[in-house]
Amino acid sequence: MIPVSRPYLPDRSRLNKYIDRIYSSCCLTNNGELLKELTLRLEEYLGVTNLLLVGNGTLALQVAYRALGLGRDGERASEAITTPFSFIATSSSLKWEGVQPVFADIDSETWCLDPGQVERNINERTVGLVPVHVFGNGCDIEALDRIAKHHGLKVIYDGAHAFGVKFKGRSILQHGDATTLSFHATKLFHTIEGGAIIFRHRDSLDKAKLMINFGLSEDSSIVSLGINCKMNEFQAAMGLCVLDDIGTIIASRMEICSQYQRSLEGWVGFQRHNPSCTKNYAYFPVLFDNEAELIKVKKALEERGFFPRRYFYPSLESVSHIAAFDTIQEKSRRVSEQVLCLPVFPGLSMAEVELVCELIKKCVSRTS
Ligand SMILES: *Cc1c(COP(=O)(O)O)cnc(C)c1O
Repeated sequence: MIPVSRPYLPDRSRLNKYIDRIYSSCCLTNNGELLKELTLRLEEYLGVTNLLLVGNGTLALQVAYRALGLGRDGERASEAITTPFSFIATSSSLKWEGVQPVFADIDSETWCLDPGQVERNINERTVGLVPVHVFGNGCDIEALDRIAKHHGLKVIYDGAHAFGVKFKGRSILQHGDATTLSFHATKLFHTIEGGAIIFRHRDSLDKAKLMINFGLSEDSSIVSLGINCKMNEFQAAMGLCVLDDIGTIIASRMEICSQYQRSLEGWVGFQRHNPSCTKNYAYFPVLFDNEAELIKVKKALEERGFFPRRYFYPSLESVSHIAAFDTIQEKSRRVSEQVLCLPVFPGLSMAEVELVCELIKKCVSRTS
């Protein structure tokens, strides 16, 4: 069986070298030596500052909202504007934190939040924006930041897909008031489970550091409201080991994605890439003419042991426990019905990539 993504497992003997350090320090968690090293190495690799490691990418979003003061304002529930074309965690984490997600439609080409639609949905309850760099494709950052500034809103980018992406030569992760990352096993870079927040300001980082460790200061006095979102040393060991290999991981994904691109050009639609951004080859989504065609392709691939994913489906405004009202987001709905993510992971062979392409071409008619 060939899944859409297979977790990257680094060499066991190299992983053991990191784990040996845990055995000799006997420190398994609580801001240990490996966690500190991973923090510094990620800051350096990504070209960011104020990075905080946490237990997973959903906690990263929750802590970022809290640290930036989104959330209920007295009796009045606050709102944040976000995209319906994302993984459920982007908006369920808002709802969980007492912030009502309000969906604005996406751009039909880039599949990221449309700034014009964001502006239309701002009202007196709006406290923040939560845009997503969908499949690693950078949002219209300048327009979104301008809107946020004009209306006094916080911006938290869900950067779960944007590991290593640069915008105009600098890390895209340093934009907004915060950007979050997911280091789940199936992501481009992983720590088994894990995540991070990159804050613009140092004081937000300091606040969040207390929040993720029960509100305890370094001398163990209780100074503020907190919870437990810590990453442990074994997660950090995996992260350090995967980071050692990140160059070859990205190169192998690039080769796979380039092959799909060449082979499927003229047969399916592609996401329009933000020309100011670099690519990280985390995903390879393709767009079909209609849902029936997508279902036909998915079935044909599954019969041959390939399991692509309908990522993201359904459009989140249709999830009743999340949405405030049932206005249909036309473009998000259409894209979510027609997009399929093809298998991309180091170790997938070029013969397998070619077979996926051939199976797709048998099911669709040439578009150009
Ligand atoms: C994976 C993902 C998350 C959640 O991250 P976890 O580490 O699995 O909690 C959030 N947002 C997006 C867009 C994701 O793809």
